[in-house]
Amino acid sequence: MAGDMKDRRLGMDRPIARRDFLNGMAVGLGVLGAGSLGAGQALAQAGLTAWPQDQAGYDPPTLTGLRGSHPGSFEAAHAVRDGAFWPGQDAPKDTGETYDLIVVGGGISGLAAAHFFRAARPQARILILDNHDDFGGHAKRNEFHLDGRLHLMNGGTLEIDSPRPYSAVADGLLKTLGIEPEALTKACDRPDVYRELGLKPGIFFDKETFGEDRLVPAPPTGEAASEDAWKDFLAAAALTDVARREILRIETARIDYLPGLTSDQKKDRLSRISYRDFLLTLVRADPSVIPFYQTRTHEEQGVGIDALSALDCWAFDLPGFQGMGLAPGSAPRMGYTPGGYADGGSYTFHFPDGNASIARLLVRDLIPEAIPGHDARDVVTAKADYSRLDRADNAARIRLSSLAVRVRNIGDPGQATQAEVTYSRGGKLFTAKAGACVLASWNMMIPYLCPDLPQAQKDALHSLVKTPLIYTTVALRDWTAFHKLGIDAVRCPGAYHTLMRLNPPVDIGDYAAERSPERPILVHLVRTPCQPGLSESDQNRVGRAEILGTSFETFERNTREQLGRILAGGGFDPARDITAITVNRWPHGYAPEYNPLIDDDLPPERQPQVIGRARFGRIAIANADSGRAAYTDAAIDQAHRAVSEILAL
Ligand SMILES: Cc1cc2nc3c(=O)[nH]c(=O)nc-3n(C[C@H](O)[C@H](O)[C@H](O)COP(=O)(O)OP(=O)(O)OC[C@H]3O[C@@H](n4cnc5c(N)ncnc54)[C@H](O)[C@@H]3O)c2cc1C
Repeated sequence: MAGDMKDRRLGMDRPIARRDFLNGMAVGLGVLGAGSLGAGQALAQAGLTAWPQDQAGYDPPTLTGLRGSHPGSFEAAHAVRDGAFWPGQDAPKDTGETYDLIVVGGGISGLAAAHFFRAARPQARILILDNHDDFGGHAKRNEFHLDGRLHLMNGGTLEIDSPRPYSAVADGLLKTLGIEPEALTKACDRPDVYRELGLKPGIFFDKETFGEDRLVPAPPTGEAASEDAWKDFLAAAALTDVARREILRIETARIDYLPGLTSDQKKDRLSRISYRDFLLTLVRADPSVIPFYQTRTHEEQGVGIDALSALDCWAFDLPGFQGMGLAPGSAPRMGYTPGGYADGGSYTFHFPDGNASIARLLVRDLIPEAIPGHDARDVVTAKADYSRLDRADNAARIRLSSLAVRVRNIGDPGQATQAEVTYSRGGKLFTAKAGACVLASWNMMIPYLCPDLPQAQKDALHSLVKTPLIYTTVALRDWTAFHKLGIDAVRCPGAYHTLMRLNPPVDIGDYAAERSPERPILVHLVRTPCQPGLSESDQNRVGRAEILGTSFETFERNTREQLGRILAGGGFDPARDITAITVNRWPHGYAPEYNPLIDDDLPPERQPQVIGRARFGRIAIANADSGRAAYTDAAIDQAHRAVSEILAL
């Protein structure tokens, strides 16, 4: 089919909400409040009459198109990285503002740092800078109003959930904010809407990978995973007879592939080979099984089975280990706990907008007038007033669309009593001073902000490479196609997005999940760009370039085509049924975690996140990166540590 005709069939010509460019530019211009450099003067310098976040109707969660790292948020940062930013810049203008603390990065770690600092010094004046048009970092809210009803989705971080129990510090902060996960889990219904309608998970075999497009019920799991159930699934799957036979063995046979070794010795071996190699060399499976398993780890780990250890995959319940007699719990090598929940894990709780509700509760705690209400339920539907975030009389101010480009101690780091932050907004440079600064921003960029750091610390920070990923949110006119096909979530091992699912239902406060297939709904899709064959960090670098080099049009076309193909049998028409698309790009997504395949076994004091996060004069370093763990509890714990270092000065 000719490209134009195919595009029309997909609906590429439909007037879908695609305001990313215009609004991305408009809201990306920056904000500034009053200081000795008056607001009017600062606005004039940036060529504006009013800062976008101070204008009525400023509401970033409702924007569609390219979100996450949206246009306008990162280009200057990349210019700083490439050495192209400073030549030709005018001298920065001094705002005349002096704070007790400036926080760079308005994610959960930065907001928590402001909270902890103010808890210790109630009179403190704090400025939080973030380069995005919205606060929250990865904790972003996607908000849609469909047929008069509010629909929410997480743009990034999904739920309160960690492989470890929350520390007393992180747990204490949640409780201070009114988040009692266990009580909320009991009180807030997670209605089984989809099960009650008879919907079940499915798996989509795509023709490019498996020879034909075929949607079948998902493979059995848990107690239902008998040999017969697997045979039924495999008979329906788009797989060769060899692959069917081999997958049946991997999933159900109880074979010890490392006989004669103790559990600890086996774990050690499994920590040194990838799961792909485990399947091919120890299990001796036919290579035709690989496409079925290759992307199984994408959403959780951000990379495929070629770049993850077999031991981590065992901890994440991938098959093949059932006859190997591996003892539960941690591995002997460096006492490292493989991925998964060997330490019991934290409680879990899911707000309809994901952990954006935690960010919103932190903002309410810092600036109560910005988000009305008083508990962890009413925050879900509360309307944020962004014009309140950066007022001169606030004790805490949040200044959006403001990229820190230089952070330095004023004077010798050992003697300094103040730090100075230079930031870019609206195409102009400004400076502000503070008694101390917490960099709660992406650690790998800090060496470009603070070139004066010791070289070993800069090397360590550079090595903390984050995982890129994309969460696409699609608004649908209705979900009758899902209903007809009897599916609510579909794993797509070879497709553009590897996971697609209907919005996880939750009722909380005034917010209720959609129950009628005839009404609009949101769909969540995940893509993790990888290049198998490279190390995990190199795959992350390649994936980041891919994300930033892909236009919204391409994301849209691929999304429409994938939904159309999966749901074709249910009468789905992408041109008619898709009403909006938001692509949440996270080129700097999950914080890096220990990978036994590529990381050196180092004592704690020599690990890169520990060297990287060392305080430098009046500058302390937070963010989940500095805990080398991609979870909310790490972001909070690291904020607390960084603030404690400053308070001890
Ligand atoms: C898609 C996705 C899903 C996730 N799901 C979960 C989950 O379900 N549960 C969970 O616990 N964790 C999850 N995580 C991990 C998540 O990263 C952490 O839980 C936590 O939200 C990280 O917070 P942070 O403040 O450390 O970093 P971030 O949220 O990244 O915030 C850092 C902020 O600093 C800003 N910044 C960077 N440089 C500058 C600069 N120079 N000037 C100004 N601002 C700057 C960034 O733009 C960003 O806004 C997920 C992450 C991603 C990407």
